[in-house]
Amino acid sequence: MLPYATAAEAEAAVGRGMTWAEAAWFRYSASIPDYCLYCHNVPILLLVYTLAPLPLALLELRRRRRHLPLPHKLQPGVRHPPAAFLRCYAATARVLLLAVGPVQLASYPAVRAVGIRTGLPLPSAGETAAQVAVYLLVEDYLGYWIHRLLHTPWAYHHIHRVHHEFTAPMGYAAPYAHWAEILILGFPAFAGPAIVPCHMTTIWLWFKLPFDPTKYIPLYGGVEYHDYHHFVGGHSQSNFSSVFTFCDYIYGTDRLKEMAGNHVEKGDENGFGNGKQD
Ligand SMILES: [Zn+2]
Ligand SMILES: [Zn+2]
Repeated sequence: MLPYATAAEAEAAVGRGMTWAEAAWFRYSASIPDYCLYCHNVPILLLVYTLAPLPLALLELRRRRRHLPLPHKLQPGVRHPPAAFLRCYAATARVLLLAVGPVQLASYPAVRAVGIRTGLPLPSAGETAAQVAVYLLVEDYLGYWIHRLLHTPWAYHHIHRVHHEFTAPMGYAAPYAHWAEILILGFPAFAGPAIVPCHMTTIWLWFKLPFDPTKYIPLYGGVEYHDYHHFVGGHSQSNFSSVFTFCDYIYGTDRLKEMAGNHVEKGDENGFGNGKQD
C-alpha cells in the first residue's frame, strides 16, 4: 500500500515525474496491502514452476512417442515415461502449495523486519542486478554447505534421498525433493535479502529465480555440472554447487575433469535410481 492518494502526490514525494514502470507500480500497488503484495510470491512460484520446464518436457514426450533420439538430453539413453513427469510435477506442486506457501505467508514479519520496501521510487536496473548478484553468491555459498550436509548418512537417508530418485534429471525434477529440503533451502534464498534489503519487486524476481528457466535447459553448463552429481548418486562427494562452482573449487569437491565421457546410463532406463545410498 502506497502512502499517496494520487499520482501527483506520489510525484511530489519522489521529486520528479514517474517512469512508466513507476506509474504502473503506482496503479497496481497503491491500494493493495503490503502483505498481499508479498503473498504474490506463492502464485508466481507455482506459475514459473509449471511453465518453465513445459516446452522441453513436451518435446521429450513427443520424441519419445515417435521413438526419436533425444539429442538435447545429457543422458540421452534415459527416457522418462509420462507418468514420471506427472508424478514429479504433482509432488513438487503439492510441496509448493502445502509447505512453501504457508512458510512464505508466515515469513512476512521477517520481511518487514529486514526492511523490504514497497514504495516509490522503484529501484534502478543496476541496483536490482547488483542485489540479485549478491543474493546469488550468498545463496550459492550457504546452499553448497547445506547440500554437503544433506549428503551425510542421516540427512541423506531421511531427506535428500528423495531428490536423488532421479539419476538423470529433467526439468520438473530440479526442485523435486523432500518437503524439509525445500524448506531448508529457502533459508539461503532469504539470507541475501536479509543482509541487503531490497524492493518488493526485486523479491518477486529473486524468489522466482531459483526456478530460473536456464536451470531447466539441459544444454546449460550448470545443469551438466549438477547432472554429474545425480549420475554418481547418493555416495557422491562432489559437485554440490547449484549455480556457480566456486565453492566446489575452493573446498576441493569439483569433479569437472571426471565428467568428460562419463555420461552413461545408471539406474533403470526410466532414469530412476534404486533410491539407496549405493
Ligand atoms: Zn545431492
Ligand atoms: Zn539435483
